[in-house]
Amino acid sequence: MKEIKLPILPTTSVGSFPKPDYLVKARNQYARGLIPYSTLHELELKATEEVIRLQEEIGIDILVHGEMERGDMATYFAENLEGFTISGLVRSYGNRYYKKPIVIGKIRRTKPITVDMFKYAQSLTKKPVKGMLTGPYTIADWSFNEYYDNKRDLVLDLAEVINQEALDLEKAGALFVQIDEPAVPTHPEEIEIAKEAFKITTRGLRSFLITHICYGDFRPIWKEVVNFPVHQFDLEFTNNADKLYPLIENEGFPREKYIAVGVIDVHSHRIESVDEIKARIKEALKHFNPEQVFIDPDCGLKTRTWEEAKAKLENMVKAVMEVREELVKQGYPSEITIKLDL
Ligand SMILES: [Zn+2]
Repeated sequence: MKEIKLPILPTTSVGSFPKPDYLVKARNQYARGLIPYSTLHELELKATEEVIRLQEEIGIDILVHGEMERGDMATYFAENLEGFTISGLVRSYGNRYYKKPIVIGKIRRTKPITVDMFKYAQSLTKKPVKGMLTGPYTIADWSFNEYYDNKRDLVLDLAEVINQEALDLEKAGALFVQIDEPAVPTHPEEIEIAKEAFKITTRGLRSFLITHICYGDFRPIWKEVVNFPVHQFDLEFTNNADKLYPLIENEGFPREKYIAVGVIDVHSHRIESVDEIKARIKEALKHFNPEQVFIDPDCGLKTRTWEEAKAKLENMVKAVMEVREELVKQGYPSEITIKLDL
């Protein structure tokens, strides 16, 4: 049994951080064959260290490694799995371009994908660092399938390999493992496939499991999603408050599960004030027991500048500190304890 003590309303981040300019430049140079992988990788490690330091300085409780080695969250896994090839640039959301994975053979994992970077990031800090995975449904949904007879077969094979990866992260010491599934609400008609895959993905895991889901409308699938086998749901309450809170009021949220409440708009340059963020936290506390609640931004911070990400997180932590003090005055404990069967 492992007990993790955290301050009430623990703070965290969803996953990605902005890449420093020197890393953006190096990634472009590497893509054009101008520098070797070893040079790029050294800069990825340097940037990861800066991301860890930044979170420590700000006072975040559960850290992320920042995904300096990743471009697109689905393509990164596809690039490292057997059975995929990668397309040229494809347009997505407005003016974003990314390389789309194409499935051309049976999916297999030939080596751990995320473990070395996790271990490196965790070696830089005494605070827990989350292991970060993209879920099988999202990888499949964001890929072209030219091999499997149907999407379910592809999703379930991906679930097996992401499960292997999660078990390896746990072995490497990850106390928190996050499986991102943003594509799930975009296809409510396929919720059974997503559910079946999620069971396989989390099979045998004993760490604290989180799923971050953004995009889409939860209304048709809420009852299914909240029963996914995870400890915590991480949802975007800033941009989706008007949909999520009524849903929670009407359909409920399991008392035994944790919720990470997004209180920062990651799509806006504007730095929210401490008071504004406090109001968002207090809104969340009307719907959840404070001992269930974690606080973070709505989504990954990779589209913000480094300075914006820093300023937003600083105000988030200041707001949390003030609300914590108020909670303790009201008689809530200053700490929560998470018990894991590790
Ligand atoms: Zn997101």
